[in-house]
Amino acid sequence: MLAALTFVDRPPQSAAALAAWFEKHLVAPGWMPRPAHVTEGFSEQVTLAPPAAADPEEPELRELVGAARFRVLASLRAFMPPAADDRFLTAAIRAGRVRPAGDTALWEPCPRAEDLLSDIVLSLFAADILSYREFHDAYLCVCKTCLRIDFDPSTSGRTGCPEHQPTATVSVMRRSRPPL
Ligand SMILES: [Zn+2]
Repeated sequence: MLAALTFVDRPPQSAAALAAWFEKHLVAPGWMPRPAHVTEGFSEQVTLAPPAAADPEEPELRELVGAARFRVLASLRAFMPPAADDRFLTAAIRAGRVRPAGDTALWEPCPRAEDLLSDIVLSLFAADILSYREFHDAYLCVCKTCLRIDFDPSTSGRTGCPEHQPTATVSVMRRSRPPL
């Protein structure tokens, strides 16, 4: 889960940073082989191996990471109430990107190197949500406005954040309604 949150909060901005993220969070724990490149939907494959890209700004890598990050957050937002769309969980199971961890009730990610980057990150979220479903159903918050992820629904609900509070918006709308 830390790996997935790290990707969402501080998305890797270079091939070297993304390779390091893979190494630390997925390759070292034995969950997947080291990928030579990453891909995401429409975009071209971007290599993770040195030598570094010709353009030091690595715009293709950044764009790919941004697209993957957005797809991950959109899946998590759909998972929030009232829709509670958990198709990304069944998709991860059917595609074999998560598997039961030993004979416990826990799950672990097992993405393939050729999977979309977003599917790899989603497999990390899926393994944690499948392992701790009740916790996530109670505490996982994704702001529907800015897609911020949090684990404290007490102040802004599960679809808000400190800056975007659904309850506050509703009460303002009620107050502005003309009296009957
Ligand atoms: Zn927000």
